[in-house]
Amino acid sequence: MRIYFDNAATTPIGEKVLEAMMPYFIRFHGNPSSIHAEGRAARAAIENARKQVAHCIGASIGEIFFTSGGTESNNMALKCAVRDLGVARIISSPLEHHCVLHSMAALRLQDIDIQYVKFDKKGQIDLQHLEQLLAKTTDVKTLVTLMHANNEVGTILNLQKTAEICQKFGAFLHSDTVQTIGQYPINVTGLNIDFLSGSAHKFHGPKGVGFIYINSKNRVQPFMDGGSQERNMRGGTENIYGIVGLATALLSACDQMENRRQHVESLRNYCILNLKNQFSDILFNGDFDGDSLYKLLSVSFPNTPKTELLLLHLDIEGISASGGSACSSGVDAGSHVLAALDPTDLRRTIRFSFSHKNTLKEIDFLIEKLKMITGLA
Ligand code: PLP
Repeated sequence: MRIYFDNAATTPIGEKVLEAMMPYFIRFHGNPSSIHAEGRAARAAIENARKQVAHCIGASIGEIFFTSGGTESNNMALKCAVRDLGVARIISSPLEHHCVLHSMAALRLQDIDIQYVKFDKKGQIDLQHLEQLLAKTTDVKTLVTLMHANNEVGTILNLQKTAEICQKFGAFLHSDTVQTIGQYPINVTGLNIDFLSGSAHKFHGPKGVGFIYINSKNRVQPFMDGGSQERNMRGGTENIYGIVGLATALLSACDQMENRRQHVESLRNYCILNLKNQFSDILFNGDFDGDSLYKLLSVSFPNTPKTELLLLHLDIEGISASGGSACSSGVDAGSHVLAALDPTDLRRTIRFSFSHKNTLKEIDFLIEKLKMITGLA
């Protein structure tokens, strides 16, 4: 038996999602740019998917562009804002995903001023400091990029308040919503936001496909030069099955949001309760009992010989979790988020992330295995 508690890294594909994708592998093989019947069928599928995604986040159809995933969407938001909207300063935080941090590093080489906003030990962004930074320099076009939920510790940003601050100072706002699209109600109507990023594999869709929302008031140029796909914004024949899968998964995530949320939240609460009751000397990271992503629980164990290879031992016992963020797997460089939150922390951190497919029984199993491996209970 395998137990999968790594849903912040990626989620298993939904059965209905796969079902919706299959005809586009087999029957509808047309190129959406072709004008014959096969091409038109493929085009219709893409435009229908765009309509569904737009509907889920309250956007208009022309504001949704399909991409290869969250990484591309985040790159696109930052780099297009600089190239096409005259942005010369970016305000962000060191807690962002590497695709945002590394995009900023690349933009710094083009003399873009990169500034970091303060945050507390839970990873909560200091919005007063954001206001101060924006107020200090008002004559430079600025993009604020802050993630909605941190993928390693789960801390949630107050997106509405952040958007209001950006609006007050005329700054553009991008949010990496990769961990929250399909899990929280996000509606761009009434939210003064310029760019949002989504990735299908975080909400039980396929890997390698995502989307970016670009507020229609922002005129940006193609990110990928080529044909006229994605209304000239991204050349290249579209990933039709991926796009259909993304839209199907997002629709069902939005339809089932409340049910799924209640179930996942109860698993997380049960896990916290059991860990608290049965273990000594463990810590929960982020704003775990405040504004936190309900699917994620980051737990630090004391650094002992028994916890040294905790992740590996859990894997051997049939439990998949993560050390920090799966995106850096293969490079054991440690977590830049945990290091930024507490540079002195030498504890062993495990990120458990749940989905509606998990059960209370699986949490019981996890607790038993943790007791056995760590000897801390
Ligand atoms: N942003 C966040 C917060 C993520 O968690 C991830 C994936 O782990 C990404 C961006 C990258 O998304 P993708 O894997 O679709 O490129």
